[in-house]
Amino acid sequence: MGLGSKQQNLLRMLPGVDRMLEAARAEAFFAAVPQILLTESLREVIASLREEILSEEATVGSDDLNIKTLLDRIREHVKQRLSPKLKRVINGTGVVVHTNLGRSLLSEMAVKNLVAIGSRYSNLEFDLSKGIRGSRYAAVEEILCEISGGEAAMVVNNNAGAVLLCLETLASGKKVIVSRGELVEIGGSFRIPDVMAKSGAILKEVGTTNRTHRHDYEGAIENETGLLLKVHQSNYSMVGFTASVSLSELVELGRTYHIPVMEDLGSGTFIDLSKYGLMKEPTVQESVAAGADAVTFSGDKLLGGPQAGIIIGKKELLDRIKKNPLTRALRIDKLTLAALESTLSLYRDKDSAVASIPTLKMITTSLKDITKRARSLQRELKKLGSPRLRVILMDLSSRVGGGALPMLNLPSKCLGIRIEGMSANVLERFMREKTELPVIGRIEADLFILDPRTIQDEEIPIIKNAFSDLFQRT
Ligand SMILES: *Cc1c(COP(=O)(O)O)cnc(C)c1O
Repeated sequence: MGLGSKQQNLLRMLPGVDRMLEAARAEAFFAAVPQILLTESLREVIASLREEILSEEATVGSDDLNIKTLLDRIREHVKQRLSPKLKRVINGTGVVVHTNLGRSLLSEMAVKNLVAIGSRYSNLEFDLSKGIRGSRYAAVEEILCEISGGEAAMVVNNNAGAVLLCLETLASGKKVIVSRGELVEIGGSFRIPDVMAKSGAILKEVGTTNRTHRHDYEGAIENETGLLLKVHQSNYSMVGFTASVSLSELVELGRTYHIPVMEDLGSGTFIDLSKYGLMKEPTVQESVAAGADAVTFSGDKLLGGPQAGIIIGKKELLDRIKKNPLTRALRIDKLTLAALESTLSLYRDKDSAVASIPTLKMITTSLKDITKRARSLQRELKKLGSPRLRVILMDLSSRVGGGALPMLNLPSKCLGIRIEGMSANVLERFMREKTELPVIGRIEADLFILDPRTIQDEEIPIIKNAFSDLFQRT
């Protein structure tokens, strides 16, 4: 298809980079912008205009191409480039441990400690009583053992790292027996068989997809067997005709044949969530009590702390793990350590942990409180007085996320929002991309849905502003 004469005219009107550079130099704003950034921005704006002109539904007119309008556009582009890429967002998805939105929010105490330790010197690796080099992990090992009942503990960068480190230490060059039903893939390319391969351990699958029995494990044990591994199914669930071997049974088997047993708990929680009306998740204490030699789990899933991979288990084994050179490559930094120690200390009192650790608080928020927040947000939006706005309250559900409790629907009261003359897709995109603070929601039944479970009270005015902005600009 040839170019129409209108398109050709518009293309001819597009100024070159040199000409724009000269025009930009006359403005104080651009004088302060680094040369490379300015030239790149000019090129990108001109290229995107060219593309727009050439596209089927060209919306560019000659008015868009005068120098003043172009400079405005470039100024916006430069501002965009200079603004931080990692920014706060409002999570209206109702997924509490949302991996793409940063998983857990740190408690107030953890944040305070993180700032205190991060902005000053600390005894990170210094033993204050002896005046000599100390262990980086001393700050959290004791409390991890205290809460879990384990003999020893260790923390690395994340749970994927913890699993890799344990496998490498315990079973490099040896066979690791795992049930077929537990060869899971977690989002973001963590797959048990792949991690296993990287660790140098050899995967020995047993059982079938839906059923694995004790005799399957037992029949697979041979001289080169280095480990029996149990993996939490995490983000999926098996129903129907299923069978699996409990951790205690595996431990018994391991003892008989002198083979260590490890469990990757995935999310990992110190709190029996069934006490709060939720489904039962295995707790870390239960796995430790069952006698696993090593238990691994994440710091930022149900635990509600910073990103970390926690390993709890037998002292003899943890000593070997601590000496593994991989540990150095996977080590956590002082900010993580500070936030983790504070988070863990909250678990000394379980009820206060649920009240002060945001992840647990959001998961256990009552439907009554969520409804209250939903009504309050609905009221605030209506106060904007736009005749285009329709907001209804809907009975939908939230999710825990982070590969925990995949079958659990947490009952919630959500806002279903429609703006007259605007599709739900356009509304969703505006809220995500065009507002000062992105408001992330989801689309259902052609409505933009906001779930108050993951929205904090002080975020209501921010959402209101985003809508006010929308009514002014569209
Ligand atoms: C989430 C998860 C992991 C990975 O943990 P990260 O902390 O994200 O590295 C590993 N195993 C299981 C079963 C998980 O659920």
